[in-house]
Amino acid sequence: MSILIRNGRIITSVGDQIADLLVVDGKIAAIGNQLEANAETTIDAQGMLVLPGGIDPHVHLHLPTPAGYSADDFRTGSIAALMGGTTTIIDFVTPIRGQSIIEALKARIDEAANSLVDYIFHVSPVEWNKNTPNEIEECIEMGFTSFKIYMAYKDSVGIDDTALYHVMHTVAKLGGLVTAHCELGDDIDTLRDFYANQGLTTPKYHMLSRPSRFEALAVKRAIDLADQTQCPLYIVHVSAAESVKHIIQAQKSGQPLYAETCPQYLLLDQNLYETSIPEALKYVMSPPLRQSNDRDTLWSAMANGNIQTVGTDHCPFNLEQKMVGKDDFQKVPNGAGGVEHRLSLLFTYGVLTGKLSLSKLVDVFATQPAKIFGLYPQKGELAIGSVADIVIWNPNIKRTISSRNHHSKSDISIYEGFETTGEVALLIKNGKIAVENGKLSGTLPNGQLLKHQSARTTSHYYKRMDNSGSYNCGRV
Ligand SMILES: [Zn+2]
Repeated sequence: MSILIRNGRIITSVGDQIADLLVVDGKIAAIGNQLEANAETTIDAQGMLVLPGGIDPHVHLHLPTPAGYSADDFRTGSIAALMGGTTTIIDFVTPIRGQSIIEALKARIDEAANSLVDYIFHVSPVEWNKNTPNEIEECIEMGFTSFKIYMAYKDSVGIDDTALYHVMHTVAKLGGLVTAHCELGDDIDTLRDFYANQGLTTPKYHMLSRPSRFEALAVKRAIDLADQTQCPLYIVHVSAAESVKHIIQAQKSGQPLYAETCPQYLLLDQNLYETSIPEALKYVMSPPLRQSNDRDTLWSAMANGNIQTVGTDHCPFNLEQKMVGKDDFQKVPNGAGGVEHRLSLLFTYGVLTGKLSLSKLVDVFATQPAKIFGLYPQKGELAIGSVADIVIWNPNIKRTISSRNHHSKSDISIYEGFETTGEVALLIKNGKIAVENGKLSGTLPNGQLLKHQSARTTSHYYKRMDNSGSYNCGRV
């Protein structure tokens, strides 16, 4: 099977050229001018952008909650991902306390089998017990090197600082990476109860019980614990300007530290919690939406390379599920969809406004998630030998996002009415056409379960610049 893409503008995280690109048997076989090749399919990409398929490092599909499963399973969520140019997702394994991590991992692998995009998981230690170190080691041996911890949600999946210290120490020793949800769980619970006890239970109090400072203080704490344990750290869904300050400071010191933000924190304002029910319920997510100065800081931190990736935290619910909490924000299932819209939103509100270069767009959308999570250069790159996951992006088409035409199964969208420019004209996944003219190929095979390379073998990790000289997380 071969595909020749003619005259596209090929964008990578470091380059930009008009050239031809040849795909043979699932891999990129050649890039150059006027390639001579007898391909089975030739595509004229004049005027189009050619980008690596997206990697969304933060997706929750088929997530069980007290309000029922989230609206997208691996099938429907992966279709939405493909329609928006994302070919790989990183989802989560979240055991119940008392359950073996390995058992939860195996069950999750089975649940994801009908995904159409390639997938891998962050694995969550939700407690520290005598089996945890061995289970972490077993995960790494199985090719799962990213461990997600929650500093919030102490009554279900959150862990305290002592457990966090042990997890980081163990993961660092074994060559993995810790990814962290940073919000101070105990402080949130205190403030939440303080409001609830006064009958202050509208969605606004969800936001007020999770202020920016609780995120920033947790970020600072996680950074410090990672420094003590010499553990590479990735902070998920950074929403607050105050958090970015701590991140920049630690990166300057040479600590291996990465950060992610999400389109909702780049684009939406906390005033949305003041809208009426049911509208305000759509925006109940953690961390909550913030203010314009936070958004400005996130955009510039991304442009400057302090925030490396954009994930969506895709976790949509239907309105009926959100309505469970119409009288009490504590009962609203947290989360919103977005896996389909990452590229169009970043292109429209980042590239076309001059906040991001095209290369930076590719970097946060595909290349850095691949590098940080040990999938590079097979994924996240347009280079000879890389997997042929390729977006051909028509930069001129205008659309309006709506739950009436998105591909998620949720009946609501936090981006309802958002105007976007640009659309997937064609998507190639593993060398096969997956999406063409807004239609999913009927013969696309299921996605594959990927493995992370160990953080020790990726060249992305840098050594500390200070005099400790003791970091052994990877090569320079
Ligand atoms: Zn999440």
